[in-house]
Amino acid sequence: MIRVTIWNEFRHEKTEPVKSVYPEGMHRAIAAGISADDLDITCVALDDPEQGLPEEILENTDVLLWWGHWAHRELSDELVNRIRQRVLAGMGLIVLHSGHDSKVFKSVLGTSCSLRWRQVGEKERLWVTAPAHPIARNVPRTFALPHEEMYGEPFDIPDDAKIIFMSWFQGGDVFRSGVTFQRGNGKIFYFAPGHETFPTYYDKNILTVIGNAVRWAAPVMIEPKQCIQCQPAENFTKEP
Ligand code: ZN
Repeated sequence: MIRVTIWNEFRHEKTEPVKSVYPEGMHRAIAAGISADDLDITCVALDDPEQGLPEEILENTDVLLWWGHWAHRELSDELVNRIRQRVLAGMGLIVLHSGHDSKVFKSVLGTSCSLRWRQVGEKERLWVTAPAHPIARNVPRTFALPHEEMYGEPFDIPDDAKIIFMSWFQGGDVFRSGVTFQRGNGKIFYFAPGHETFPTYYDKNILTVIGNAVRWAAPVMIEPKQCIQCQPAENFTKEP
């Protein structure tokens, strides 16, 4: 079983028009959409105790999903650091949509993660650029979302981004909308679609991508990264 925690800011959904699209919250829509026998899913929110991630939840998470927007700055730096250490140790991290501007994503990657954006509800067409990658399994080589927020280049992410999806928008912009990284033992996937006023997290292809990403990001091992003083592996006589 992969222990999945879906963290959602869960503020937009308390008012219209988002409430009508995601009455139970985006985290629960995603959980329902990717639900499967091999996934043990927990949904948490910013306003839960300890901002949704007390030690016992974080330490029992194999893959963490992250959706935030308005309240990035409210997240405690102490929690951001604990999440970062857990990623370096091996926890998978999947950052969704406006999570690109979260403290968590920026601290793990070390760049501004800034981009260009426009919210007019234009069409987005995604293209698979790495069809043999596990995250693209059973995903059509191209598919469209009728309405999405435009996220465009330049996207200030590190140069080692492996591009899995590219997006084209009706307004002419393009964007690296699905990218992977590895930091320490942890695998990271950023996936751009998911503006709160559109039903993106009910889209079959989007849910397939997220489900694939969870399985891809599941840890091979979780071991804290730290400096270790060590004994030699072979016996030898120390020179005088
Ligand atoms: Zn948005």
